[in-house]
Amino acid sequence: MSDCIFCKIVKGDIPSARVYEDEELYAFKDIGPQAPTHLLIVPKRHIPTLNDLTGSDGPLMGRLLVAASRIAREQGLSEKGFRIVANCLESAGQSVFHVHFHLLGGRAFRWPPG
Ligand code: 5GP
Ligand code: ZN
Repeated sequence: MSDCIFCKIVKGDIPSARVYEDEELYAFKDIGPQAPTHLLIVPKRHIPTLNDLTGSDGPLMGRLLVAASRIAREQGLSEKGFRIVANCLESAGQSVFHVHFHLLGGRAFRWPPG
């Protein structure tokens, strides 16, 4: 999608602090970190929201979650714990309409979230 911020980041048209990349996935530092570690992990393919997932996206989204787990370990978060967040639509806090997981760690988190 030509006007999507995360598609532009994936293509390198907008600079980002990359932490992981493969053929299907891209992970980078959030520009407005909400925790000492705050990364975003996205599929390279443009999918607007979690509402748009279909059965054929299962393997991709599974790999996204496994990558998040591995990145958390590499970032030293697996011992104390971390949080993965995916917001769907505005009332849940989604502001960029390209599916992404937030990977947050390095501090304690409250539950329930705000
Ligand atoms: P959402 O609010 O959709 O769940 O999450 C979008 C996230 O993208 C926010 O945490 C925001 O800080 C981050 N973000 C928005 N624009 C940019 C950008 O240009 N670069 C980076 N690295 N992060 C961005
Ligand atoms: Zn996109």
